[in-house]
Amino acid sequence: MWQGIGASDGYGVGTVIKIVEADLSFSDTQVEDIKAEQTRFQLALECFTTKTKAMAEQMRQRVGEKEAEILEGHVIMASDPALSDGILSQIADGICAERALWNTCDLFIQVFSATDDELTKQRVTDVEDIRTRLLKILLDKEDVDISNVPKGTVLVARDLTPSMTVGICKENVAGILTEVGGKTSHSAILARALEVPAVLSIPEIASQLKDGDVIALDGFTGEVFAPSPEQKAEFLKKQEAFLTEKEGLKNLVGKPSVTADGKQVELVCNIGAPKDVKAVLEQDGEGVGLFRTEFLFMGKTSVPTEEEQFAAYKEVAERLQGKPVIIRTLDVGGDKEIPYLNLPKEDNPFLGYRAIRVCLQQKEMYHAQLRALVRASAFGDVRIMVPMVASIEELRQVKAMVEEIKLELDQEGIAYNKDIPVGIMVETPAAAMMADVLAKEAAFFSIGTNDLTQYTMTVDRGNAQVAYLYSTYNPAVLRMIAHIISSAKQAGTPVGMCGEAAADPNLIPLWIAYGLDEYSVGATSVLRTRSILSKWTTEEANALAVKVAGLATTAEVEAALTEARK
Ligand code: PEP
Ligand code: MG
Repeated sequence: MWQGIGASDGYGVGTVIKIVEADLSFSDTQVEDIKAEQTRFQLALECFTTKTKAMAEQMRQRVGEKEAEILEGHVIMASDPALSDGILSQIADGICAERALWNTCDLFIQVFSATDDELTKQRVTDVEDIRTRLLKILLDKEDVDISNVPKGTVLVARDLTPSMTVGICKENVAGILTEVGGKTSHSAILARALEVPAVLSIPEIASQLKDGDVIALDGFTGEVFAPSPEQKAEFLKKQEAFLTEKEGLKNLVGKPSVTADGKQVELVCNIGAPKDVKAVLEQDGEGVGLFRTEFLFMGKTSVPTEEEQFAAYKEVAERLQGKPVIIRTLDVGGDKEIPYLNLPKEDNPFLGYRAIRVCLQQKEMYHAQLRALVRASAFGDVRIMVPMVASIEELRQVKAMVEEIKLELDQEGIAYNKDIPVGIMVETPAAAMMADVLAKEAAFFSIGTNDLTQYTMTVDRGNAQVAYLYSTYNPAVLRMIAHIISSAKQAGTPVGMCGEAAADPNLIPLWIAYGLDEYSVGATSVLRTRSILSKWTTEEANALAVKVAGLATTAEVEAALTEARK
């Protein structure tokens, strides 16, 4: 078995066809007629541009806009004077066009490879693809044609480039396997757009397989193996079920999120950056239930300014066009490190200087974040959420700061929503036990089951040795959640959930029974969550909750929920 990165969901099984690139070796010749060689390169570039534009158009029609833009990006990159001038000036030194192209592209590849930014790193594939195609034109070699592969083909390549994918007939391709690439590489984006299962980044897989081998690949887990006939049949069945479910889920786009007896809930998304809004809208999320702002603070050398933060929050608010946007203030510490904040090393970081505890001591930094949030409230339904609350004083202090900021903004004549809600994450047992009191002063609750499970079970959520204890199915955690929701209901405070458990198909009926108002899930889980909600009546969910309430162990709860699953 091989292990790669599962980059496009689904179960693929089929016969290997390796994509063998044309031999692009060339000999270095000393150029005599410089003008003619430069013209040869310029003609090749023109030919490249024409071909790539045509491919982009084909891609737009067959795959999608985003994928066509990748190829249009190639036209822009290839015509960038930094590239072509570099090549022309090397030719002027007597170097042949092929070598000049090779060297100049190498420089770009080195620069892009050296960055820490994953997206910039992925540009290496673009430059390699441009270089390969330009070389083919210069050497008069044919493009690889994978448009005619037979049904049930697993394509195996070093990398799957946008230009290779253009002609792909997705009905015939059972899977894609590559030696390089990651979840954000173009090959992954393309495989997902084509809805073909893909596993990437298995070094030298192409040399370990030969044409005609039968292999199975799991696009969820990244596992690849030679299947037995039984495994092959099982994979084909799983893929069929997966596709049927997926088709069914597409029908839920634009539909309300309701239980089988018509009780409507809110189904929103967790995001980490403004760019994630795209997926929220694509998957029909009804807003944002958790914007983890720590990602704006990570990968930088200093605290983002109020303006930088304002721009990010405003962008999210505007793009969601009046839908709710819950933005959580900085949740640093624990397992989330931000080096420039110089937080002390602690023996028990999860029990230490974390989240709101840091923010209330670093008031200047927090003031800037709160100001950016209050200002952004003029551009949409922005709501502020305070993480890791363990006592009501923390919420009171934040609300007092927000009130001060409102006065400042009044004086400065800056617009904002005077009723901007300030709510809390309920993720500590202390907040859970005081939920009735907190509910009177918090505008809303969002239950952070990831941390609530950790703190209720007293088990570090990242420690493998005690991982068996870390389960939201544990009756203690479930009782805690039931208590939080009923306390919120009694006070008339809206209550949501933004931990992973909000999207757990087994647990959703319990949340229905407890009366959860809002589910905040990863964008890719929106439609599945909507589908599960639609399968349960409140009465059925209540019956299951009563049964579960009488159980003593995690295993018993898990068995009961799994058995009841629809
Ligand atoms: C949680 O604790 O459930 C939560 C959503 O927050 P995070 O995972 O960011 O700690
Ligand atoms: Mg948390």
